[in-house]
Amino acid sequence: MSSSGSRPVVNGGISYWYADDGFPAVREPLDGDAAADVVIVGGGYTGLWTAYYLKKAAPFLRITVLEQKFCGYGASGRNGGWLYNGIAGRDRYAKLHGQEAAVRLQQAMNDTVDEVVRAAAEEGIEADIHKGGVLEVATTPAQLARLREFHAHEVSYGEKDRVLYGARETAERIRVAGAVGSTWTPHGARLHPVKLVKGLAAVVEGLGVTIHESTPVTEIRPKHAVTPYGTVRAPYVLRCTEGFTAALKGQKRTWLPMNSSMVVTEPLTDEQWASVGWDGREALGDMAHAYMYAQRTADGRIALGGRGVPYRFGSRTDNDGRTQAETVEALREILVRFFPPLAGVGIEHAWSGVLGVPRDWCATVTLDRSTGLGWAGGYVGSGVATTNLAARTLRDLVQLDSGQAAATELTELPWVGHKVRKWEPEPFRWLGVHGMYATYRAADERERLTHSTGSSRLARVADRVAGRH
Ligand SMILES: Cc1cc2nc3c(=O)[nH]c(=O)nc-3n(C[C@H](O)[C@H](O)[C@H](O)COP(=O)(O)OP(=O)(O)OC[C@H]3O[C@@H](n4cnc5c(N)ncnc54)[C@H](O)[C@@H]3O)c2cc1C
Repeated sequence: MSSSGSRPVVNGGISYWYADDGFPAVREPLDGDAAADVVIVGGGYTGLWTAYYLKKAAPFLRITVLEQKFCGYGASGRNGGWLYNGIAGRDRYAKLHGQEAAVRLQQAMNDTVDEVVRAAAEEGIEADIHKGGVLEVATTPAQLARLREFHAHEVSYGEKDRVLYGARETAERIRVAGAVGSTWTPHGARLHPVKLVKGLAAVVEGLGVTIHESTPVTEIRPKHAVTPYGTVRAPYVLRCTEGFTAALKGQKRTWLPMNSSMVVTEPLTDEQWASVGWDGREALGDMAHAYMYAQRTADGRIALGGRGVPYRFGSRTDNDGRTQAETVEALREILVRFFPPLAGVGIEHAWSGVLGVPRDWCATVTLDRSTGLGWAGGYVGSGVATTNLAARTLRDLVQLDSGQAAATELTELPWVGHKVRKWEPEPFRWLGVHGMYATYRAADERERLTHSTGSSRLARVADRVAGRH
């Protein structure tokens, strides 16, 4: 496969971030039955941050992390590196628990962006973090109408520091072709996902947490995490498996594994950067229904993502990040539509990963006090920061349950203990998700062609089918 540049595109290999920073040495698998105070299944940001905060709060705890491949194998080693304050489900939580509760959740997310920056600095994790905020642009009249609505909506959740820009002010920040406006929030940073997850795993291990890699958990039951190499028993078993959850016994329809794909360009020249602007290194997104997200990397490239083939039949996940040729081409087209002067820039690497999507698109964190089973996830596409809030909340829930601490502000947030029904069985799951994304793409195309100022009705239908509103 080649995409415009002189060299073929590397496809898969987990992600570009590993090609850049190297793979870690794999840790020893579990070797027979074992006991712990807390066992964490999954070595992504959720599992590792949870181990980190629990061990910091209670150094005497024996904590074991069980990871099927290696820490950072999942979305935490493949994402777009947008550390930002979005959380899936906030609006539904406002409906269920009231605006005030949802404002507290939003405030906690704003603080979480700073907490990740702070903790990484304190632990000496060099993850190329640059806090330039998040800029979301509109390129059609319909997108502009949605952008203004979105901006006002976010301000109503207490984001007084959010700014709305017109076409000229947007162009002063970044020259996206046809941009008619944008909204910027300071609550966002760009980072290198793999440097964060590798650094975090090393810090956690240094604190005395046991990490076993190449150790798939096949079943979770109260006080047991079962693997082919032995069972780890612990009063608390925390499931942090996000997009891979469907492979666990009894969890097939809990969270749907949704794909997201990315490409990264070759390094841009100074002239090319001059044609684009982007000096503020903001995380960049748009207001399309099938939206894109991008960052200017520390090594001078553009990493850009969006929805490829959204979902595989039967909740299958991926092959170490390989993605379809048509997805690579679709992402390249977005890049060139945004930045026409970059038409000749080569794509060097493409990959994909899975997100966890609950039936109502609401992220959750839960500890069932009667069984000691806990879980966090369903972040949809907003997990780089949310995983950290989930981890601090799991820490507080475990400490509350074990009598080591009282309830905290975090344990009272409205996403704690949320329950949702399961996804439909196949083929309805596959048909529903594919139908939804085909409809989003059609809605974007119609909005572009008609220059209408209202959101396409198609997109609203897709939202309803998906259970998003
Ligand atoms: C392409 C892509 C781009 C994204 N971009 C962004 C972004 O820019 N900003 C943002 O906020 N979010 C983004 N996300 C989402 C974000 O990356 C995730 O929400 C977040 O990393 C989830 O972390 P996690 O630890 O819960 O899950 P994961 O990182 O997926 O970790 C789960 C871990 O559990 C392990 N595991 C699974 N099952 C088992 C088992 N049975 N036994 C043992 N181990 C198991 C897996 O191997 C994996 O390492 C993106 C996701 C993808 C895929």
